[in-house]
Amino acid sequence: MFSYRHAFHAGNHADVLKHTTLIAILQHLTIKETALMAFDTHAGAGLYRLDGDFAQTSAEALEGIVKLQDLAGPVPAALQAYLDTVASFNTQKPWKVYPGSPFIIQKFLRERDKLKLYEIHPTDAKTLSGNIAQLEAGRQVAVLREDGFEGVRKLLPPPSRRGLLLCDPSYEMKTDYARVPAMVDDALQRFATGTYAVWYPIIPRPEAHDLPKRLKTMAQRSDRPWLHATLTVKSSKVHTDAQGNEVRPGLPASGMFVINPPHTLKDALKETLPFLVKALGQDSNAASSLDSGS
Ligand code: SAM
Repeated sequence: MFSYRHAFHAGNHADVLKHTTLIAILQHLTIKETALMAFDTHAGAGLYRLDGDFAQTSAEALEGIVKLQDLAGPVPAALQAYLDTVASFNTQKPWKVYPGSPFIIQKFLRERDKLKLYEIHPTDAKTLSGNIAQLEAGRQVAVLREDGFEGVRKLLPPPSRRGLLLCDPSYEMKTDYARVPAMVDDALQRFATGTYAVWYPIIPRPEAHDLPKRLKTMAQRSDRPWLHATLTVKSSKVHTDAQGNEVRPGLPASGMFVINPPHTLKDALKETLPFLVKALGQDSNAASSLDSGS
């Protein structure tokens, strides 16, 4: 059974990159009148406590959202939209609640839009259902306790032919690295014009390195525009501390690969990524990259 629980990681630097990108996409996709169908193939629990046991144990939010909540001075618009979104789930600082992708997406939907959430972990699926029930969003949001990779196949293309799919697995299982491109390939055949946003960890393992390359090849083969953004906050090297203990760095970097991105996304991230490097970078390895093609 899966042991990954997103509560340990909520609000970390990877969530900052993922959710800032997600919001920039949603802001654009909800301008057009036509209804949008959003899919979150790996939804998690939906809402997280930044002051709860999980977050306190991992302290990962300290490397992400906690560092950003007190920024002084002007902030790039895409980052400001992300900070405003997190702030809207809190009544005071320091922020105690962190919204996961289901709540972030739902916040941007109009009445006519729909959201399908897939979560396979029994505890997180139950928590997610409970959290979503409080929204009283009725039929707008569906929580499906099934495999997200498989589940979306049945629903593509959406009736309105406008869709956003976020694919954010835990990559706890090595097979996720192959299942992501297989799902995107299948989805592109069913619904070539959908927007597909894939998060992946940048870690020293060949599958992680290959994933964006495979997605890029797929986008190019399907003649679809793509965008690839990465954020590195620290070195991936294991080092030894003053007491002689081996210190594993934790996740040093991650990426977002988007197929059929809104035309506004590149400019939004061009301004935001270098800002995030300065705000969240922990050593001289901190860096970002932004690449795109059409
Ligand atoms: N997208 C969430 C967010 O940004 O707030 C975080 C999701 S977390 C990285 C990945 C989630 O996927 C975990 O809660 C895990 O239980 C779930 N999961 C793993 N394999 C799955 C599968 N095949 N289908 C659906 N959910 C899965």
